[in-house]
Amino acid sequence: MKMSEAAKFSEELRGEMSFDVEMRRYTTWRAGGIAQRMYQAADLEDLRNFLHQLPADEPLLAVGQGSNLLVRDGGYRGTVLLMVGALTELRMEGENIYVQAGVAGAKLARFAALNNLCGAEFFGGIPGTLGGMLAMNAGCYGSETWQKVVRVQVLTRTGELLERMPAEYEVGYRHVALLGKGEEGREKGGKAAQQEGFTLPPSPLTLNQEFFVGAWLHFEQGDAEAARQEMKALLEKRNASQPLDLPNAGSVFRNPPGGFAAKLIEGCGLKGKRIGGAQVSEKHANFIVNVNDATAADIENLIEEVRATVLQQTGVDLHPEVRILGEKTI
Ligand SMILES: Cc1cc2nc3c(=O)[nH]c(=O)nc-3n(C[C@H](O)[C@H](O)[C@H](O)COP(=O)(O)OP(=O)(O)OC[C@H]3O[C@@H](n4cnc5c(N)ncnc54)[C@H](O)[C@@H]3O)c2cc1C
Repeated sequence: MKMSEAAKFSEELRGEMSFDVEMRRYTTWRAGGIAQRMYQAADLEDLRNFLHQLPADEPLLAVGQGSNLLVRDGGYRGTVLLMVGALTELRMEGENIYVQAGVAGAKLARFAALNNLCGAEFFGGIPGTLGGMLAMNAGCYGSETWQKVVRVQVLTRTGELLERMPAEYEVGYRHVALLGKGEEGREKGGKAAQQEGFTLPPSPLTLNQEFFVGAWLHFEQGDAEAARQEMKALLEKRNASQPLDLPNAGSVFRNPPGGFAAKLIEGCGLKGKRIGGAQVSEKHANFIVNVNDATAADIENLIEEVRATVLQQTGVDLHPEVRILGEKTI
């Protein structure tokens, strides 16, 4: 879909369409291939309008800050829906916060504190959007995104706007799937992931053909100053333990039941292990950092090597938390 294809869309669209987009510019690993096209909607209505006009079989990928995402070097054949800068509403609605999918965690945490609400501090240190945090059930220091959800707002791939309750989802540790419609999709998603060598939980988008555009979150009344202090303390803790000076995607592997991925990786002597421009961080063994213009293949090969070594030495099969997709180069 080049410019001639763009002309097929109605002129009423108010967002920005781009072609052959380097996904390294949209992912915190600063690596990866090219997406055929990207649409950054002007707002929710504009996104609906765009989806109404898309061919039913167009592959779609929702992207927030790209802080948990690797697009392989062969690129993504489809349309990326960029939520950052598109779905940005954030307001109090009664006792709840209504927040759209493109809002960053830090902004949400500050907004909650400003409104004397507590319990949102943990969002402050997660460098993702609300949409990505809903898709991943992101969390840290004992709190998780879905603990705060009253209901979510989703768009189907044909542009239908729905509200769903948390009970409609299977929510676990870095895992979210829509119940009911899920069985066929789950099986399909599982097979696809296995073919790619990972047992990744596919995002709600691939599973069920819909994605998050907003949510109503509930927090308790609290002390704004205490919330700000808590945010500061959590950020200091991160700065001390994470290699935030180099491009990364946070924890690469989920923690295995009752254990810590970082501890296992470090125990296998893998800190500092390097493939091409990708390296297992010296500071935090569950982080892979882009030290020198890493390709997506460097990063993915290192993930596979770490996984194989840990399995061989400890018997524990680590599962990636990061989402890897797109085409491999031959
Ligand atoms: C330095 C650093 C620290 C981190 N610390 C933490 C942490 O403490 N806890 C934690 O849980 N994670 C952490 N992460 C990982 C990451 O920030 C989270 O997973 C976050 O939720 C990803 O949000 P995102 O907007 O960047 O999503 P993206 O990376 O853009 O997307 C991730 C996945 O979510 C899907 N997705 C994105 N938006 C939507 C949407 N609107 N609807 C449906 N699916 C969507 C994408 O398709 C993709 O499959 C860290 C990452 C970094 C770089």
